[in-house]
Amino acid sequence: MHTNDAVFLEDLCPKFRLRQWRKSIHRFTGKSCIYCGKPSESIDHVLPQSQGGLSTTENCVPACLSCNGDKSDENALYWYRRQKFYDPRRAMAIRAWLEGDLRLAIRLLQWANPNFKKSNKNYEKDESEYKAA
Ligand SMILES: [Zn+2]
Repeated sequence: MHTNDAVFLEDLCPKFRLRQWRKSIHRFTGKSCIYCGKPSESIDHVLPQSQGGLSTTENCVPACLSCNGDKSDENALYWYRRQKFYDPRRAMAIRAWLEGDLRLAIRLLQWANPNFKKSNKNYEKDESEYKAA
């Protein structure tokens, strides 16, 4: 019954829901910037709101303040390609994220960043079994 109560509460309080949503976005990447891997302190619109980008999960990625500020109103994929920390695996992850395939996006981010092991315990387990074999 608690779950039902929570849904009801969120419907009544859009702000609460917004906060939960923001948190869940950061949780996907283990609170790291999707562009550079530093701690994510903000949510970035991949397609800027000024260009009609929506505040949906597919268009919103966790980003550090430096990437978010530097990117400003540019399209993220074009901007990202010019960065020193450009990583094709992260670019693929951003594209997968935009298409709504968060699972693939997270797998690509894990591949790009070996220290990333927050949300997927099975991934870790598989690796240790591999080493033991
Ligand atoms: Zn960043």
